[in-house]
Formats: sequence, C-alpha cells, structure tokens
Amino acid sequence: MTARVFLFLFLCVAGALAGAFLAGDRGAAAGLGLGALGWFVFESWRGLRVLRWLRAPDTRALPRIGGLWGEAVDRMRRALASREKQHQEAERRLEAFLEAIRGSPNGVVLLDAQGRIEWVNDTAAGHFGLDPQRDQFQHLTNLVRDPAFNAFYQGRSYLHDVIVPAPASSPARPVKLSLRLHPYGEGRLLLLSRDVTAVEQAEIMRRDFVANVSHEIRTPLTVLAGFVETLQSLDLPKEERDRYLQMMGQQAQRMQMLVNDLLTLSRLEGSPLPNQGEWTPLSAFVMQSQQEAQALAKALGKKLDLRFPAAPSVALGGAAGELQSALSNMVSNAVRYTPGGGVVEVRAGEVTPGRFELAVRDTGPGIAPEHLPRLTERFYRVDRSRSRETGGTGLGLAIVKHVAQRHGGELRVESTPGTGSTFALVLPAARVRPLAVTPGGEPAPPATGSAAG
Ligand code: ADP
Repeated sequence: MTARVFLFLFLCVAGALAGAFLAGDRGAAAGLGLGALGWFVFESWRGLRVLRWLRAPDTRALPRIGGLWGEAVDRMRRALASREKQHQEAERRLEAFLEAIRGSPNGVVLLDAQGRIEWVNDTAAGHFGLDPQRDQFQHLTNLVRDPAFNAFYQGRSYLHDVIVPAPASSPARPVKLSLRLHPYGEGRLLLLSRDVTAVEQAEIMRRDFVANVSHEIRTPLTVLAGFVETLQSLDLPKEERDRYLQMMGQQAQRMQMLVNDLLTLSRLEGSPLPNQGEWTPLSAFVMQSQQEAQALAKALGKKLDLRFPAAPSVALGGAAGELQSALSNMVSNAVRYTPGGGVVEVRAGEVTPGRFELAVRDTGPGIAPEHLPRLTERFYRVDRSRSRETGGTGLGLAIVKHVAQRHGGELRVESTPGTGSTFALVLPAARVRPLAVTPGGEPAPPATGSAAG
C-alpha cells in the first residue's frame, strides 16, 4: 500500500518537476496531471488483468501481480481453491451415495417435476425394462405403458405400497413388483420398486397349504362326526355298531397319519442339517422296509412279488430316522399303487462315480410325464381317490425330497405309463462308506435306525 502511495507521489512530483523544467508553472501543473493520469492508466491496466483472469479463473495460472491487486488475486485464489475443494468433496460424496443406490437390491427412479427420468439405478432399469443412459430425460409413462403401472402412477398414492405385475411379467414367468412413490424437492418424485415375486409365491403357497390341510382333515372329521351322530341317535345291532366303530377307527387313523406326516415335514424344515457322524448299515434300512412292505401288502390284500436283494455292504451317513422315512415312503407308494401280481424291487448301489442310489422300482400304473415335475408338491396327487383308498396323505414324496436335499442328494423319478416307475434317493459319495468289518469277519452291528415318520 505504502509503495503504491509512493509510486503515485513519485509520478506526480516527477511529472510536475519535468513540466516545470520544460514550461515553468503551467508546465508543472500539466506535468502533475500527466503523472496522476499515468498512475491511473497503470492501475487500470493492472485491474483489467485481474478482471480478465476473473472471467475464467484458473487457480494454476494466476496473473503475476503485486500490491493491492495482487492481494485481491491471492484472496480470490484461496476462496476459489476452498470452494473447489468443497465442490470436489460434495461430488465425491454424491458419487459414493449414487454408487450405494446403484448397488441396492431395490429399484430407485428419480423423476423431475414433469415426470421425466433424471436418474435410474440398474435394478429399477431391470424392473421396468429401461436403459439408464438412453432413457434419461424421457417421460416415464411413455416408456412404461403397463396399465396397472400407469393407474398406480397417475393415482399418486404416497401412503401405501402397491403390488403390480412387472411390465415384463408373463403367465409362464410371473414377476410382481411392490412400488412406492415419495414426493421430494419441488414437485420431484422418488419411485421405489422391489421384486416381491418370491414373497408373493410363498404367501400363495402358505394359503394353499392351510386350505389343503383344512380340507384333508375336514373330510375324515365329517365322516367321523356323522358316525358318532348315528351311533348316538340309533340303537343299532352289535355287528353294525362294530362295523361303524371300525370305520371310525379308519378315519381316525387317516387323520393320525396326516398329522404325523405334517409333523415330520415341519421337523425336516425346522431342524439343522444332519451331520455325517451317524453311520447306519444300509441293510438295516432295507430290512425294515421289507417288513413294512410285507405288512402293507397283507393289509391291502395284495399278492406282490416283493424283491429285496441283499444290500451292498455299506453304511449311510446322516439322520437314520430321516433316511428310513424316505425309503419307507417310496416302498409304501410302490406297494400301494402296484396292482396285485406286480413286482416291487429295492436296489442299491453306486450308479456313477460319486452317485449312490437307493432305488425302488415297481410295475405299477406309471405316471404321465406332465405330472412328474409336480409329484413332490405337498398334497399333489395324480389319482386322488386311489391315494385316499390306500391311505395316502399326499405328503410322502415331499418328505422324500426334503430328506434327499438335507443329505446333499436328490430324488430321481423315472416312470412310463402302463409299465411302472422307479423312485430313487440319490446320495453323494460322502454319505456312503464301506461297512466296518468286525475282527470275526462279520459286518459291524447297526449303529442306530428308527423311522421318523
Ligand atoms: P400319496 O400319499 O398320495 O401317495 P405321495 O406324495 O407319496 O402322496 O405321492 C404323490 C402322488 O404321486 C401320489 O398321489 C400318486 O398319484 C403318485 N405316485 C407316487 N408313487 C407312485 C408310484 N410308485 N406309482 C404310481 N404313482 C405314484
């Protein structure tokens, strides 16, 4: 500052002296004026340099200038640098925020006041069939023309989630979206979408299951109540009374079997996966199934060729009760559905390296291919009356499938209508090992082996 004042004074004095030297008093006054003007022009030129820099300020190319203007430039540079840093920080935060929303499993669409897409994450793009780059600034309703979606969008209901079929949903592959609109900013909208197909399907399955169980229990219960009423109101002869009581016993047994199978299923779903610590000889499973098959065939009054060849000398690792239950269910089905004179055979062995099969083959009616994918659904029956007549609950194969999956295996079904069926419990190699042999050369006795249901 002082230097500026000195420079100003110096120019005025130098101008006045030069003027006085050249033209006396008048010259001194003119020289003083010229000195002041020179100073003014010089300062204006410096100010213009600063202004020119300010029009497109670049903190890396500062005008080399001192004094007042230099200080002003320096302060402006510092203010600009601090603003630039804040700006970069805000951008970094915004980018991190968008990155998080981009990776969100829920769809997010930001719409401007005119309903144009400002930003859309990949999940929402998938839900609505949009292209995040190409469709930016397009009207959402021009791109998503689904009537259910449009009714929701035009309705502007901000309070509730609405479940609509996704635009790409089809009867073969239904997709349900839960949508929600939130207003924000000045007339802007945030559209959130969530794929709830699995939740919806689980809810439908739960409703169906409750309806099925109620129906399955109501039928024998109605029969039972009818018999009770008859016995209470009529004085029947002893033989008829006994016949009624026997039929009541059958209905009660049917309900008991259903409840037992339901409990088995819920145990299978709710308990931890079986470990391999429990090893049971295969022969123990086969022997018990053989006894059950004989008893069942006798109870049904059927003559069947029941073939239970000697099982390979191996032990199976896992929950013995579950494995027995799976085999018993497959054998029971084969015996129940195969007409008298037919064959039911249980075979076990390694079919391919790493795949051990426990298979039940029968020469029964077989199953048409369209039914095969649905056999393990709860209460799915190919022949409803046949299943009931023979004491089926409709849950047997669901239990087998669960047991197989819990042991890392699967249920394989092969069937030809009119020829017969093969149901096989396929186990991974890790669940099978050669039977330990006692010093006397005999296989070790079974470790355990009770049926679960
Ligand atoms: P269910 O208790 O009715 O037998 P499952 O779940 O065990 O129920 O079997 C489902 C359906 O699969 C049965 O109702 C039957 O129609 C069919 N099924 C199962 N095993 C056989 C078989 N060995 N031969 C023919 N049909 C079978």
